Amino acid sequence: MKADVFLEGLDSLFPDARCELEHRNNYEMAVAVVLSAQTTDASVNRVTPALFEKYPDAASLAAGELKDIEQCIASLGLYHNKAKAIKGMAQGMTERFGGEVPDTMEDLVSLPGVGRKCANVILSECYGVPALAVDTHVSRVSKRLKLAKPDDSVLEIEKKLRRKIPKERWIRTHHQMIFFGRYLCHARSPECGRCPFTAECREKNKNL
Ligand code: SF4
Repeated sequence: MKADVFLEGLDSLFPDARCELEHRNNYEMAVAVVLSAQTTDASVNRVTPALFEKYPDAASLAAGELKDIEQCIASLGLYHNKAKAIKGMAQGMTERFGGEVPDTMEDLVSLPGVGRKCANVILSECYGVPALAVDTHVSRVSKRLKLAKPDDSVLEIEKKLRRKIPKERWIRTHHQMIFFGRYLCHARSPECGRCPFTAECREKNKNL
């Protein structure tokens, strides 16, 4: 579908789309993003207040006992791996970046637990760097609306979106596509009846 029509539609639907991971600083954002893999932002927001109370910065998390960190996030799926990932990330930040969250893709993906998607979210949310992170919602919406092919990889989708969407719109569009996927174009039972893009969709009314 045409990018300008898509962007106008998103603006009408979700003018105030934003990151829903609660955080007060870059450290908290980075930890929350890593924890959010394959789970909802709401689940992450339920565990982070106690986690950040106990570990208020990268140095304290790096020095934390793995089993104590696991206990703080035990309600999340994959919590063993996630505890290892956030501790490893905090160790990397402490040892190599003075306890700060790095501000380049190269440095971010050098940290344990941080892949390209997480790095894109961190770059845009913490530093305002134009980025288009492709998560499950962005991927599904891009494919349904023919902004990408059904078998495109995450990286191919990201490249196509970067070509089609003006750079100054990347951050806003990323949030709006997540809202669209989360609150309207659900994976199962999308609400096609209130979707403005049905004419362009590969899967409209699929589950009716
Ligand atoms: S028509 Fe339905 S499946 Fe297609 S983009 Fe809209 S909500 Fe999603």
